[in-house]
Amino acid sequence: MSIAQNITKFNQVLPQGVKLVAVSKTKSNEDIMEAYQAGQRIFGENKVQELLQKWETLPKDIEWHFIGHLQSNKVKYLAPFISMIHAVDSVKLLNVIQAEGQRLNRKIPCLLQFHIAEEESKFGFEPAAFNQLISTDDVAIFDHIRFSGVMGMATFTDDVEIVNREFSDLSQLYGKLKSTYFSEDANFMELSMGMSHDYQQAIQNGSTMVRIGSSIFGDRNYTP
Ligand SMILES: *Cc1c(COP(=O)(O)O)cnc(C)c1O
Repeated sequence: MSIAQNITKFNQVLPQGVKLVAVSKTKSNEDIMEAYQAGQRIFGENKVQELLQKWETLPKDIEWHFIGHLQSNKVKYLAPFISMIHAVDSVKLLNVIQAEGQRLNRKIPCLLQFHIAEEESKFGFEPAAFNQLISTDDVAIFDHIRFSGVMGMATFTDDVEIVNREFSDLSQLYGKLKSTYFSEDANFMELSMGMSHDYQQAIQNGSTMVRIGSSIFGDRNYTP
């Protein structure tokens, strides 16, 4: 199937209220434009340099989501235009985003990334340690961050039970944060989980935003 057909297919199979982030990392402007012509407006990238090049050359009504690990010294490049930063995983990064938001007088939409997978990863808040790092007071102090929800990645495995358990954990954590820290904040409404191989389970567990790359654009070619 073509890229355009894949976009149409996802629009048909995704339930109402589940947003599609078309993950276009490593893909050409041409490929992105094919998805755009099919109506897609939200695209996800994970490299700052690559995203900047695409942002400069592609239509301005594209909503760019940054889905990769973000180094704090690169926040300044994205801060003026980014529609969502998916993987905010440290207080240090929150501080830098807050400072850039203040400088630009912009509230920057962010998702808190949690480490839910069995796999070792340097990235994501550890759920158990989260409330030692951030208090309800902090949430009010970060007044140039729009806390929009949470994001996570399940273990890369065919074991459906493991994936379901991890998505269910993230979903519960999201519900807990929504009813405590963010109970006054209507913007806290996104549960970003699910990729090409596990989006169906993510949706069964309440995902509101799936990040799909290879099932739309085909396999990625990594150039050395
Ligand atoms: C690459 C990537 C995706 C998309 O992966 P596919 O398996 O190609 O759908 C989703 N989320 C993140 C964080 C990614 O880096």
